[in-house]
Amino acid sequence: MKIETQSCVITGKQQVSVAQQQVEWNGKGTLVRITRGGICGSDLHYYQEGKVGSYEVKMPMILGHEVIGFVVESDDPRLKPEQKVAVNPSKPCGECKYCRREQENQCVSMRFFGSAMYVPHVDGGFTQYKVVDSAQCIPFPQDADESVMVFAEPLAVCIHATHQAGDLTGKHVFISGVGPIGCLIAAAAKARGAASIVCSDISERSLAMAQQMGATDVIHAANGDFTPYLADKGYFDVSFEASGHPSSLQRCLDVTCAKGTLVQVGMGGAIPSFPIMQLIAKEINLVGSFRFTHEFNTAVEWLAQGVVKPLPLFSGAYGWQDIDAALQFAGDKTRAAKVQLTF
Ligand SMILES: [Zn+2]
Ligand SMILES: [Zn+2]
Repeated sequence: MKIETQSCVITGKQQVSVAQQQVEWNGKGTLVRITRGGICGSDLHYYQEGKVGSYEVKMPMILGHEVIGFVVESDDPRLKPEQKVAVNPSKPCGECKYCRREQENQCVSMRFFGSAMYVPHVDGGFTQYKVVDSAQCIPFPQDADESVMVFAEPLAVCIHATHQAGDLTGKHVFISGVGPIGCLIAAAAKARGAASIVCSDISERSLAMAQQMGATDVIHAANGDFTPYLADKGYFDVSFEASGHPSSLQRCLDVTCAKGTLVQVGMGGAIPSFPIMQLIAKEINLVGSFRFTHEFNTAVEWLAQGVVKPLPLFSGAYGWQDIDAALQFAGDKTRAAKVQLTF
């Protein structure tokens, strides 16, 4: 079966267009009618700079990795036509040593939606029809709010980040940088039983969002008084760096208590001089956090059940024809948090 599909394609810096393409379903996997997608930081990097880190757009690539839709056809009996699904954008090989250890996010040949890491690039989900592995389709209730369910992928990233910190029950948590990811970490930390969640940012608007998403207190990153959090080698058991700025990492090191854990989530460049002595002397556990594994299913569950309510982060929806305008709006951090596309 061959189907025409309209896709949002990037060909280079500031170059996106809508292209008519064809998809073919040959009885294997699941053909999904994509209905909605969220624009993520990496989509914006591809648009604004033509690359994410060192991965440059070298050929036309469909953008997007945060998508939901409904089943058209499937080889999996649990996926009936019309069943609504969140699409897990990761497709690990299932065979490498990391896949065998259930660390699929570290798969050595991961095929992740909308990524220019490999040549040819892996197409994303900003298209009307897409064939995916049936295991990538996570069903959700028909009556769930789609503008909520499309948060499954970024929420999965954030649940994974909290898992990197271990048990959060009764812990004092600090989050530096509360864009959509920092805010969803706050929500996930709350769901996992944190006793207090203090969020910091230079934007008042972001701090207000964090308060709606579960922060118990907020503090301005530039004008706030951090002295209460510096006593006794630091106040917080766990801190999350979610901005990618060197000064933010320094702040996290300052306010994390000795023996505490610091999770690096924000993607940043090199740090000119890393405060190694502080890390050593306070015996801080510094851990990275990248994408997610089984947390995608947890995210779908939590959103469907209302454990996490992400709508304070939702800034507006555009039709797929307006991909250019949607990306420009999403790139304006003074006005937009999470922008969605409908297909
Ligand atoms: Zn994302
Ligand atoms: Zn693998």
